[in-house]
Amino acid sequence: MVKNCCEVCGKTTSLHVHHVDENPLNNSTSNLMTLCSQCHREAHSKHFSAPMVRITCRHCEKPAMKNSLCWTHNTRYQKYGDPLMTKKKIGSDWYLVREHGL
Ligand SMILES: [Zn+2]
Ligand SMILES: [Zn+2]
Ligand SMILES: [Zn+2]
Repeated sequence: MVKNCCEVCGKTTSLHVHHVDENPLNNSTSNLMTLCSQCHREAHSKHFSAPMVRITCRHCEKPAMKNSLCWTHNTRYQKYGDPLMTKKKIGSDWYLVREHGL
């Protein structure tokens, strides 16, 4: 619901429409908040000041996507059930081989 004053402090000037889930395409009334510029900045800074824990892959130094695995290792995990499995060409055939982890 778009109101004519800030929903946090009641200010009526420099109002912004804030998307609670941060998705600007979600315009359902429950996702919209009327905030003044200052409260709006705070709404976002709270969100962004959450400690960003950088998780790295269990098997390499790349940033992890999910399951503590990087994109490459996670793809292998989904495909082969083992993040260290990879396809290697031996002679003229492809074999599934297990890499040595770091
Ligand atoms: Zn305000
Ligand atoms: Zn916002
Ligand atoms: Zn990895």
